[in-house]
Amino acid sequence: MRKPLIAGNWKMNGSCASVDALLRALSKGAASVTAELAVFPAFVFLERTRRLLASGTIAWGGQNLAPEPSGAFTGEVSAEMLRDFGCRYVLVGHSERRTLFGETNEWVAAKYQAALRAGLSPILCVGETLQEREQGLTYDVLRTQLNAILTLPTGVKSLEQAVIAYEPVWAIGTGLTAQPETAQEVHAKIRSWVAEYDIKVAENLRILYGGSLKRDGAALLLAMPDIDGGLVGGASLNAEEFLDIALSCNK
Ligand code: PEP
Repeated sequence: MRKPLIAGNWKMNGSCASVDALLRALSKGAASVTAELAVFPAFVFLERTRRLLASGTIAWGGQNLAPEPSGAFTGEVSAEMLRDFGCRYVLVGHSERRTLFGETNEWVAAKYQAALRAGLSPILCVGETLQEREQGLTYDVLRTQLNAILTLPTGVKSLEQAVIAYEPVWAIGTGLTAQPETAQEVHAKIRSWVAEYDIKVAENLRILYGGSLKRDGAALLLAMPDIDGGLVGGASLNAEEFLDIALSCNK
């Protein structure tokens, strides 16, 4: 049985006051949610996130990490630092990192390995652009992104510690959401690729959907058999909406 995970990627948003209010509202509502919850604040808000969530069940993580454990890398934060701080998860390979900051599959793989090394659970984001989808390249792109991880020395077993988020780039921040059947098809395909290496790992792997996931429509997507939760961007900044999305996983 895969426990659903609803993760909120807050991106570069918030202030001390708004983050505190959001965290308080989430803490209050979390008790009625059966899915696992996690939030990904900007680094400067991690300290207050830990403080406000310490006694509850909501996990927190970093939106990014450096591949190196320490050293002269001004402005970077390592996997070891995040782990030491109490993070459970870290986002790896988000499409905004890939497109705006030029992260290649190799770079993403190095970050993924760093997360494993430190004992974090990487949430590996994969997804195709609209152009790639229209050119019929969706599966080629996704397979290449996944292979960058599967061909590492850590291999398929590393996915026991990881989560995958399928985030069609054309749906991120655009208000366009993939149809439940379309997303299900992709999720099942990703699981089948992992199963080529290890059936058990594939069966236990959580594959989240991300891309304009909102209160409306979440229930249908999250009811799909291979969709094991969501990575929520914009809607995660509203506690009520984020909790409503999570509540749609309650059976
Ligand atoms: C994201 O950035 O991970 C995301 C899914 O964003 P949004 O929900 O705003 O499309």
